[in-house]
Formats: sequence, C-alpha cells, structure tokens
Amino acid sequence: MEIVLATGNLHKVKEIKDILKGLDLKILTLQDFPKMPDIVEDGKTFEENAVKKAKEIARLTGKIALSDDSGIEAEALNNAPGVYSARFAGEKASGSANNKKLIGLLKGIPLARRKARFVCVIAIAEPGGRIYTAEGELKGIIALRPAGKRGFGYDPLFIVPRYKKTVAQLSAGVKNSISHRSKALKKAKGILKQFLK
Ligand code: IMP
Repeated sequence: MEIVLATGNLHKVKEIKDILKGLDLKILTLQDFPKMPDIVEDGKTFEENAVKKAKEIARLTGKIALSDDSGIEAEALNNAPGVYSARFAGEKASGSANNKKLIGLLKGIPLARRKARFVCVIAIAEPGGRIYTAEGELKGIIALRPAGKRGFGYDPLFIVPRYKKTVAQLSAGVKNSISHRSKALKKAKGILKQFLK
C-alpha cells in the first residue's frame, strides 16, 4: 500500500516516517508530487485543516493521504493562538516572533494561570472520500521566559511539568515519546494497520 504525506515540513516527514516504521507501507511525500498546489489552512479547528489537506491531496494524487495540523492553546487567552499558531505574529512569522507575542500577552499572569496544551490532529483520507482522524495533546505551562535551544516553534516556552523543563530543553527522543504529534501518530498507525489487514 502507498501513502502520501501531505506536508512539506521535512521535520514532520522524518517524525512521521519514524513512527510508521515497521508497517508494510510505501511512504511518498509531496516531493514525489511537485505539482501539488498550496492548500490554504482556513479552518476554524485543527481537525478542519487536517481533513482539508488530506482530502485534497488524496483527490489530486489518487492515493491515501496523511496530513497533520497542530498548534498551541493557552488557557488564559481563551485557547489562542490555536489554529493561528504558525502565523500568530503575522504571516510567515518566525518562531521567536511568535514566542515574543505570546509572552507579551501573558505579561503579569502568574505560572498558576499559564496552563496550555499542544494539540495535533492527524487526518487520513482515502481517494474515495473516506476520512479518519486521530488527536494527541501534551499539557504544560507557558514559561515566564524562553529556555532551551532544541526543537522549534513554541518549544522554548512550553514547560512540561513532569520534567520541570521546557520542551526545548528535552532531547528529541524524549520529546518524541511524549509529544502531541507522536500520540496522534501512534493512533493513526493503529488506523493504518486496519487498512493493511
Ligand atoms: P502547522 O505546521 O500548521 O501544523 O503549524 C503548527 C505551528 O504550531 C508551528 O508553526 C508551531 O508554531 C506550533 N507547533 C506545533 N507543534 C509544535 C511543537 O511540537 N513544538 C513547538 N511548536 C509547535
């Protein structure tokens, strides 16, 4: 069976390939389909965006497609930035610009009220139109200031209480064992196993 990963992000491609290892699957990426259009992420939820990307790529390639959409929700900000996480500080904003904006909005709010979660929704679409989704989350606290150099995006601000460290201070191995994306992917792996039966 072949599956196309509907993401241009090489960091995600690697993580997805690692977790799906061991399945009898040929994994293709958008590099195998260079003419795919950019799909606009205009949904109000992670699920809407993930489903839209997977559906479009399945329709255009005629193959099963797997996509993901992810972001961070801060409780004190009514779950913002949510689906706007990547472009919180503006279109194509850098990770550090996004972090600066988040810290600014939470100024003066004590750690006890800085609860947050990382969320990831994976969608798997069949060319015939059937859709499956899987969600994963990682709960944490937004730090008062950034710490750590690893990872990407909001990792330097996201404290994992169990480790008393930010995600950017954890090794990639530890991050991948607890992350929202790996939890959603493990569920997605279960769905794909059913396809292969
Ligand atoms: P996506 O590529 O549309 O899923 O955008 C997700 C955005 O959410 C990224 O640009 C990051 O800002 C943030 N994000 C998602 N997952 C993570 C993570 O594991 N660490 C840090 N930031 C993340």
